[in-house]
Amino acid sequence: MRNYNFSAGPSMLPLPVLEKVQKNLLDYEGNGISVMEMSHRSKPYQAINDQAEALLRELMGVPENYDVIFVQGGASMQFEAVPLNLHKNGKADYVVTGNFSGKAYKEAQKYGDMKEAASSADRNFTYIPALEKGMFRTDADYVHICYNNTIFGTKYNAIPDTGDVPLVADISSCILSEELDVSKFGVLYAGAQKNVGPAGVTIVIVRKDLQNMASNVCPTMMKWSTQIKEKSLYNTPPCFSTYVAMETFRWLKGLGGVKAIEQINREKAALLYDFIDNSSFYCNAVEKPFRSPMNVPFVSPSEELDKEFVSAAQKEGLLTLKGHRLVGGMRASIYNAMPIEGVRKLVDFMKRFEKEHK
Ligand SMILES: *Cc1c(COP(=O)(O)O)cnc(C)c1O
Repeated sequence: MRNYNFSAGPSMLPLPVLEKVQKNLLDYEGNGISVMEMSHRSKPYQAINDQAEALLRELMGVPENYDVIFVQGGASMQFEAVPLNLHKNGKADYVVTGNFSGKAYKEAQKYGDMKEAASSADRNFTYIPALEKGMFRTDADYVHICYNNTIFGTKYNAIPDTGDVPLVADISSCILSEELDVSKFGVLYAGAQKNVGPAGVTIVIVRKDLQNMASNVCPTMMKWSTQIKEKSLYNTPPCFSTYVAMETFRWLKGLGGVKAIEQINREKAALLYDFIDNSSFYCNAVEKPFRSPMNVPFVSPSEELDKEFVSAAQKEGLLTLKGHRLVGGMRASIYNAMPIEGVRKLVDFMKRFEKEHK
């Protein structure tokens, strides 16, 4: 039996995608071998690589003046790739809204004059600070934000205006979950293991005019232009992860694309947040305008009850609800692959647990 997995990442994959992958596992489309065993220079893999890019472009509406690459190293490697690739004046501004944006800021400091333009640390990252153009240095190479904060459960509700300074965003935990105007960004990046596929592949989307400003010491493997030139095949790519990502893109397109999943995601989030807000037992600390539709942290009246909640939920097939150690309590990650039935089952369980422990 399949459980509902609320893990923040690696997280649930859509069942039809897993079934398709299973069907193709031993013999990929009549080639008599698995994608895992295939040369990345072979025709069938080239087709997978091309399809993955084409589908992602279509789903996200990526404009012509952007390149899309599939690389390794996770979002964490991009924390360093960003300052090394966007290195004209050697200075950049960071908005710190949680753990990952803090890490990105910290790594970047090794490579230049980095400034924290704003932070929400004063209230334990329960909101997104108000941002305006004047807060950023006009000669900064870029402004970096984390669009959805996986651990603290916050999300930007508008794309900040950075004027002529390119905006770079980590969208690891919200990619393809709702419509996003790519043209407002210079660079977007996301690890696959939240909304796209298995860990191991990272998506980077780079505007063409930002591809010739890498630092001299930028490692060849981290340089976006290296992979852009070779269509993500400079070296052996994470073939299997990219293949599964392609199947996820197909699945999403079949559902009606990002617009359709956004509607479903809204319903799922409303179901859970409305229940929490109407309960005197559970509490979500995030300021309402900044609540993430993907990651929903909440607490019960005590740490003992939190622990009991997590283990009782596990017994009912509601997995990985323990909150991140930085926040405590519980966290339900309800990415694209989580069906609304999973959220209903969670809410039903929460009701029962509340009744039994009030
Ligand atoms: C998970 C996550 C990361 C870290 O991703 P890795 O692939 O483990 O490097 C970075 N940023 C955000 C927003 C995330 O959700």
